[in-house]
Amino acid sequence: MAEVTLDSLRKEFDRGTIVAVDDVDLEIEDGEFVTVVGPSGCGKTTTLRMVAGLEEPTAGTIHFDDEDVTDVHAKNRSVAMVFQNYALYPHKTVRENMAFGLKMSTEMTKDERHERVREMAEMMGIEELLDDKPDELSGGQKQRVALGRAIAREPEVFLFDEPLSNLDAKLRTEMRAEIQKLQKEFGVTAMYVTHDQEEAMTMGDRLAILDEGQLQQVGKPTEVYENPVNRFVAGFIGSPAMNFVDVDVDTTGDTTTLVNEAAGFELPLSDQYLRGHDLRDSAYTLGIRPENVSVIEEPKGNEIVTTTVEVVEPIGSDNYVHLALTDDFLARSRPDIKPEPDDVVGIDFDERDLHLFDPETGEDVF
Ligand code: ATP
Repeated sequence: MAEVTLDSLRKEFDRGTIVAVDDVDLEIEDGEFVTVVGPSGCGKTTTLRMVAGLEEPTAGTIHFDDEDVTDVHAKNRSVAMVFQNYALYPHKTVRENMAFGLKMSTEMTKDERHERVREMAEMMGIEELLDDKPDELSGGQKQRVALGRAIAREPEVFLFDEPLSNLDAKLRTEMRAEIQKLQKEFGVTAMYVTHDQEEAMTMGDRLAILDEGQLQQVGKPTEVYENPVNRFVAGFIGSPAMNFVDVDVDTTGDTTTLVNEAAGFELPLSDQYLRGHDLRDSAYTLGIRPENVSVIEEPKGNEIVTTTVEVVEPIGSDNYVHLALTDDFLARSRPDIKPEPDDVVGIDFDERDLHLFDPETGEDVF
């Protein structure tokens, strides 16, 4: 297996007018599963295609262990790629589809190939489908065939490009678990591209978050969730998305207080929270996740702020309570906390759950 290292990897299109991937540095450890996540057009697929050898970098290098593979042809890289549209040959049977990849990339005899296909089919639970053609299969079965075909080649690096987006929600959850199990079983280094932050959070050992071609943060799912480095990551990771409120800092008197006058919001910060940081009299963007906001149905007057309920969306396990505090401020509360629209409620949260971002640069301030 291989460690994959991207060093200042860059891809420009249309004579430099489009910078799809902007000097990305990323190290994926041997046997590690890294998901690359970001909004549409952020450069995920282009990055993956460069690792596969399907796209030539404008600058930078790609190493598999110590070998510089930047100029190595795709067919000579030990990678297997699984796509969203399965990329199966429609006129070949499942058996032929699986054997074909082996024929192209290994020097096995026909009997060895067929034995390997049988083993993989058994492992993927698709033995009964070996003589079927792709159009006789469901989406989930096609994806199992595509996975089996990729694994059969015993690649050093496994590349996934949104492989589950054509499947329904239940099957997607099943296949997520299956892919992770296979990846760990084979110990293959994996890079998995998705625009779905939930998929990225549940699947990767680590996440790499891209925006506009630039790597924003790399870290374990909990690290990224708890300590986003900037407002983009904070808003992109976590569902429903983090609330943002513009605040000014008031340091008159003994306390440092976050204020949003329009929302009637005043939040004194403790010394413990500030840990010596001097916020001075300036503006910040406060971030608080909906799951960290408490809704108090009968305000007692000691809450951080009171506000009006706009809409309540029950989702079974919780209620999403939309509040008039700022534009679409959301609280995620327990199902027994179910105020009515137009009710005045209290809002509380623990200062330890707050994030503060620089409104100009978006960077987390401490
Ligand atoms: P999506 O989730 O929509 O597939 P992505 O994050 O995978 O998006 P890419 O497909 O890598 O993004 O595209 C990144 C940028 O590069 C986009 O602006 C895209 O339009 C541009 N791009 C990608 N391929 C080409 C190409 N062959 N020629 C010109 N521009 C391209």
